[in-house]
Amino acid sequence: MYELIIIGGGPAGMTAAVYAARKKLNVLMVSKDIGGQVLLTARIENYMGYQYVEGYELIQKFEEQVKQFPIELVEDRIVAVSRLNGGFEVKSQSGKSFQGKAVIIASGKRSRQLNAPGEEKLIGRGVSYCAVCDGPVFAGEKVAVVGGGNSALGAIADMVKIAEHVYAVSLTPLTGDPVLIDRVKNAPNLTIYLEHQVQEIQGADRVTGIVIKDLKTGEMNNLEVRGVFVEIGLIPNSDMVKGLLKLNDLGEIQINCICETEIAGLYAAGDVTNVPEKQIIIAAGEGAKAALQAHHYLQRL
Ligand SMILES: Cc1cc2nc3c(=O)[nH]c(=O)nc-3n(C[C@H](O)[C@H](O)[C@H](O)COP(=O)(O)OP(=O)(O)OC[C@H]3O[C@@H](n4cnc5c(N)ncnc54)[C@H](O)[C@@H]3O)c2cc1C
Repeated sequence: MYELIIIGGGPAGMTAAVYAARKKLNVLMVSKDIGGQVLLTARIENYMGYQYVEGYELIQKFEEQVKQFPIELVEDRIVAVSRLNGGFEVKSQSGKSFQGKAVIIASGKRSRQLNAPGEEKLIGRGVSYCAVCDGPVFAGEKVAVVGGGNSALGAIADMVKIAEHVYAVSLTPLTGDPVLIDRVKNAPNLTIYLEHQVQEIQGADRVTGIVIKDLKTGEMNNLEVRGVFVEIGLIPNSDMVKGLLKLNDLGEIQINCICETEIAGLYAAGDVTNVPEKQIIIAAGEGAKAALQAHHYLQRL
């Protein structure tokens, strides 16, 4: 039995792993990937110590630091966490089972889907949830970015440099940071459709266009595009504890200010929790807090 199992390899999980290893805990970190959402981020200008850093560079630094310690890493997806006499059992998609005296859930968030007709079958065939990852494939093409928040504005900023033309489609007025709106709003190859809804993504085996509806007039419009970037927010990866822990209306794990859930020995940190403001520096700080609390808990056992 491990002393501590950390689920998730984003900023919260990796920071928790380093703090736990420095307390000489016997730690297992299980994650679908190393980096989490930071891998989807091109420019980071608000992580202290770096005036500017690319997402993958910051994650390389985090990973180097994790690898300085004897932390066991397993790449897998956790599907269930349950109570066990003396601790917890954590089950993975590939059928593995791990046991830990304490667990930190740091599984972050994933992209929300539009649920528009055509979306599901065209994922990876023009429909993408990550402009940073897939944007360059659409060099010189017409694309749509769906959403009006910071993620969408980041995608627009990337795509106006790469694509022939970008159509921004938002259900609401743009809600992202004013500094990001200023960065994109005058791009000559950008057309913004506010208060419009995507009705359908068209294409047989590749995206050929989208149908959008003006929510004020009901008018439909066909846009010929080769790529659709869906940037409409994120949902918490909390399925593994449904039924075990209380989740809030957004599906986030409810914790107190020292990362405790309602079950002793089970902690949560970062974007998967109800802690307001989802940022790298906050997730990293919460990961540190969770690991230190887990250490206190294990000492008390
Ligand atoms: C496009 C974009 C741009 C952003 N830009 C910035 C920025 O400029 N500055 C800033 O501070 N923040 C930014 N953020 C927010 C920031 O990335 C997040 O707040 C931060 O990554 C949260 O860290 P986390 O460790 O809680 O979760 P995540 O980064 O989501 O990491 C979660 C980890 O858990 C793993 N995981 C998920 N489910 C499971 C499972 N079932 N089993 C095992 N492992 C699992 C994932 O693979 C991942 O490794 C941005 C986010 C996005 C999407």
